[in-house]
Amino acid sequence: MKIKNFYVHVIGCQQNEHDGICINYLLEKLGFKPTPIESADLIIVVACAVRQTAVNRVFGLIRNNSGKQIIVTGCVLDHDKKKFKLKNVDFWDIEKPEDLADMLKISDKKKVSKLLKEGRKISPFVPIMFGCNNFCTYCATAITRGRERSRRMSDIIADVKTLIKNGQKNILLLGQTIDSYKDPKTGERLDVLFRKLNNLPGDFIISFTSNHPKDMTDKIIEAVARLPKIKKEIHLPIQSGSDKILRAMNRPYTKSQYLLTVKKIREAEKKFNVKIDITTDVIIGFPGETEEDFQQTINIFKTIGYKTAYLNKYSPRPQTAAFKLGDPIPWKEKQRRWRVLNNIICKK
Ligand code: SF4
Repeated sequence: MKIKNFYVHVIGCQQNEHDGICINYLLEKLGFKPTPIESADLIIVVACAVRQTAVNRVFGLIRNNSGKQIIVTGCVLDHDKKKFKLKNVDFWDIEKPEDLADMLKISDKKKVSKLLKEGRKISPFVPIMFGCNNFCTYCATAITRGRERSRRMSDIIADVKTLIKNGQKNILLLGQTIDSYKDPKTGERLDVLFRKLNNLPGDFIISFTSNHPKDMTDKIIEAVARLPKIKKEIHLPIQSGSDKILRAMNRPYTKSQYLLTVKKIREAEKKFNVKIDITTDVIIGFPGETEEDFQQTINIFKTIGYKTAYLNKYSPRPQTAAFKLGDPIPWKEKQRRWRVLNNIICKK
């Protein structure tokens, strides 16, 4: 095996960041050398399929680094995988470490698998579930990451214990819709996991993301408010303040139901005498979003007072249900709407 200089390029969410940390660990343990991208002969890209701009960045990186071995992993749609293949770029499914061993011509496949697992022990992120069952019409996650699979609670607790032992103070639990977490054997839910983690000895804080508003339960809200080692922050992606747009996005809740959940969070704050920050995600300029629809999102922002918000301008993703709706709202208008919401957040 030839020792290579490598660079790992991560795009997108915390799940990808976590994968990037594990890949860096694996390659270093294999004796490869981390270098800046310019001097790397191996580049691994952890890609994101959420926005076209993120996909374009991967193609740009491939163009600017011809002649190097480039491997793409993460969230990638099938038609992009085919385009990568045409450019001699391999796609690697991170759940199959033996495939990476083949790509890197490493005969000891078990070692690659073991090291990738070991990498989890240095990442402050702990994935507790994978995939998604929801098929929001703008999102390719259920296609790229598959259906929802929760890990055993005992395995998650073991991972967290290792991180605490290694001195991690801030641990982030990850899942696409983490509030629907369910132990595959016992059926225990996220609030039970929180209680068990809170009982572990040590000085640490557990955060969690991302939630689906339809899966947020009273028990989870109470656990966040009551348990001192659970961070007092709930990420509750609203995506739009308009019921019409929520329906078009296949988000199965209404503005009123969302506001009821927020009310429960505020009540829990009072009951346990704590402050819980609420953060959110919004998609700006989904096809059909009129000025009136957008105004409802503005109203929600003003009513709730989010601590922060991730504002994403809509871009159509092939293979998603919304793709056929095109992209009728001009980029300039999306930018204007983005500025309006951003100003509300920044003024806080
Ligand atoms: S809940 Fe919707 S937006 Fe979130 S990952 Fe699943 S399909 Fe995508």
